[in-house]
Amino acid sequence: MSDCLFCKILDREIPADIVFENEYVLAFNDINPQAPVHILIIPKEHIATSNDIDAGNMDLVGEMLVAAKEIAAKKGIGINGYRTVINCNEDGGQAVYHIHMHLLGGRQMSWPPG
Ligand code: 5GP
Ligand code: ZN
Repeated sequence: MSDCLFCKILDREIPADIVFENEYVLAFNDINPQAPVHILIIPKEHIATSNDIDAGNMDLVGEMLVAAKEIAAKKGIGINGYRTVINCNEDGGQAVYHIHMHLLGGRQMSWPPG
């Protein structure tokens, strides 16, 4: 049994509001949404941070982005636009150490991010 929160969501040990799933990734609504659309896209393999991406798992990052694009289109925010974010470690604001792509949209994003 894994100690990782997102592995537990993958294993259906913890419930989540799942919006998309394929062979490579799972996507679910963020529990504390920061925008009208705020979805987390996670690989089905436990990868702790962006620092752990290498030649052996880099395809999964592409899968996460393709999933984000498809979910954005389905949610009707593809044309107006959206933001994808991967936070890494403490300064990046990472709280859950299973890599995840935030998909945020449905409002105007500001720049620079906080
Ligand atoms: P991070 O700060 O690591 O980039 O983002 C972690 C995200 O996971 C946060 O936006 C937080 O709201 C979300 N989160 C934390 N725990 C849960 C949970 O149990 N379920 C869901 N759906 N989201 C969670
Ligand atoms: Zn995990």
